[in-house]
Amino acid sequence: MDNAINQSVSNVSFISVNDMIQLLKRVGIENFISELVEYLEQDYLNWASFDKSPRFAAHSPEGVIELMPIGGDEKFSFKYVNGHPKNTQSGLQTVTAFGVLSDVATGYPLLLSEMTILTALRTAATSVMMAKYLAPKNATTMAMIGCGAQSEFQITAFSKVLGIKTIRLYDINPQAIQKCTENMMNKGLTLITCDSAQEAVKGADIITTCTADKKNATILTNSMITDSVHINAIGGDCPGKTELEIQLLSRADVFIEYEPQTRIEGDIQQLPSDSPITEMYRVINGELPGRTSPQQLTIFDGVGFAIEDYSALRYVYDLVNKHGNCQQLGLLVNPDDPRNLFGLTA
Ligand code: NAD
Repeated sequence: MDNAINQSVSNVSFISVNDMIQLLKRVGIENFISELVEYLEQDYLNWASFDKSPRFAAHSPEGVIELMPIGGDEKFSFKYVNGHPKNTQSGLQTVTAFGVLSDVATGYPLLLSEMTILTALRTAATSVMMAKYLAPKNATTMAMIGCGAQSEFQITAFSKVLGIKTIRLYDINPQAIQKCTENMMNKGLTLITCDSAQEAVKGADIITTCTADKKNATILTNSMITDSVHINAIGGDCPGKTELEIQLLSRADVFIEYEPQTRIEGDIQQLPSDSPITEMYRVINGELPGRTSPQQLTIFDGVGFAIEDYSALRYVYDLVNKHGNCQQLGLLVNPDDPRNLFGLTA
């Protein structure tokens, strides 16, 4: 009987947290991010072929739980993700996630993966891919404001892909700065601890804001920012959760992922609904320019869009097939007669 049931099951590739860590060790985190940037660019170039929608978000006073689906020609994916800024006070992550990649032709899931680490990797890869088009040429210094779970991934991506050498760190929590400094030590970077966001942005070519607070925070004010920098603002990603002063947004050229979602969730939720913005797929496909002059002030108002999770899952699935090292989960039924589902229960 048990044998009959076992034979009536088909498998889905499964990547646990431990599997993801092993995969990263095998590929190397820097290579992982660089290769993921290539997958992201391929998918952004195919923008028109995707079935897209803003994510489903269930808000509560402490946070948000979201589902992020997207359909391509050959694959479909979704991610389950939360955002609960107060979680760290009780020893929990602010963001946790898992996701599924499926085959469009059969509708069968192919891969079920942890996505907490993968989200940090894909967010860093996305930020640096956007910065390739938007940041000042020959940038060497980045301010990293918010030294939580995402921060080292961001620093790794910007140092590997854009050659950033100096990081100016600030967080309201000194232990977060210390943790980030210890993790990034001995990697050929100059790490400077700053006492305020104002101090951190001094001399920076790129400013990454990645803070977590469920409110309209003002991490960067208009007067703090000179022209000619690129701001990678990724912590404001929910209604009522922003990081940039409205006057700063109004002054800059703002680039986003997907307008129907970012108008609700991004820092631009503070602006009128017809304020000028550019969707990045149009820059990546060469239709519109990114940075056009050294003096330009650019902002990437990143909230995280489902296409990025799709790229990340697609990349992991290719890695798994190449290296053949993942678990198999008996998640799907496979009776000899597909119509005889009931027979499995008899
Ligand atoms: P985290 O809780 O681990 O870290 C957030 C850090 O921000 C903490 O160290 C906290 O002390 C610091 N902080 C809070 N307020 C601050 C302030 N006013 N000034 C300076 N530092 C401040 O969270 P995380 O996992 O690193 O995520 C950071 C943010 O990025 C969250 O808001 C999360 O929702 C967002 N996020 C966005 C994307 C995206 O695609 N755009 C993806 C993942 C996470």
